[in-house]
Amino acid sequence: MRLKEQAITSTEKQTPPKKPRPKAKKSLGQNFLADGRVVERIIRAAEITADDLVLEIGPGRGVLTRRLAERAGRVVAVELDDTLADSLMSEFEGSPNVSIVHADAREAAIDELVPADVPYKLVANLPYYAASPIIRRFLEADHKPKLMVVMVQREVAKSMCAEPGKMSILSVATQLYGSPRVVMSVPPRAFRPSPKVTSAVVRIDVYDSPCLDLDSEERFFDLVRAGFSAPRKQVHNCLQQGLDISREQAEALLEAARVDPRRRPQTLSLDEWGGLYGAYCLKYGHNERTEITDSEGIRQDKPHA
Ligand code: SAM
Repeated sequence: MRLKEQAITSTEKQTPPKKPRPKAKKSLGQNFLADGRVVERIIRAAEITADDLVLEIGPGRGVLTRRLAERAGRVVAVELDDTLADSLMSEFEGSPNVSIVHADAREAAIDELVPADVPYKLVANLPYYAASPIIRRFLEADHKPKLMVVMVQREVAKSMCAEPGKMSILSVATQLYGSPRVVMSVPPRAFRPSPKVTSAVVRIDVYDSPCLDLDSEERFFDLVRAGFSAPRKQVHNCLQQGLDISREQAEALLEAARVDPRRRPQTLSLDEWGGLYGAYCLKYGHNERTEITDSEGIRQDKPHA
């Protein structure tokens, strides 16, 4: 009995005290996945094979990274948090197919993460504060992923996949570049700490080129942004306000595109936005945006009206 007690005491002495985990940072959207079944669904939805190069955004404590590393040929994981990036670098030091990059995914040069001629998949449980800008950045990039599987807030997922009637700028921006679908809804209890809202995993099969033939994607989005400048109002009002043109000019544009001016912007389909952009270019030319100053001397971009 005494011997046994002594043995336990000596083992206890040898085990170094466990370092407390750093607290999750709300400001960096740190809601870590704690449900292995959700991790598996993400991996399955991304159809990872040994031929794949996977870019992971926000690896956090590495729950997805470990599974990706087992399946994919190569994993590049971009983490903004200093402490998490350090600890992942130590963990994956001996894994030749994993690179941890300490950077901000909103700014890091994509070609420095993934060589320009190499196809890749993007897989992430995204920080919610930056999910839409990160998704749009990678969809609009010259070097786009061929597939994206991302966890976002359910409302964002719905917006990405919305049909006419519920469209938003994010719906147009997603569906111009790819075909999105919701893979699954994920309840708050699947994360630590639990977020306040339900999440969803979305898969986007990215097209080789945008599904509308556009001379300038930037100018197309100027028009879409103008069209959504007051989503509760009729679309002619939005265009008037957003493009700073007269009611007659807005109505003429919409008539040329065969869109009823009284419709709300969320009812327009992607094809109708394409038609409206065609009418806009015919009316105002394909030239670059014109810089003008408004009555208060503030620089604005406005078409030749
Ligand atoms: N992948 C982990 C998981 O599923 O448990 C963590 C996901 S957590 C929702 C989001 C992660 O993104 C956090 O680790 C956070 O530090 C990181 N992050 C936040 N903003 C970032 C940014 N701008 N660029 C790269 N990583 C970011």
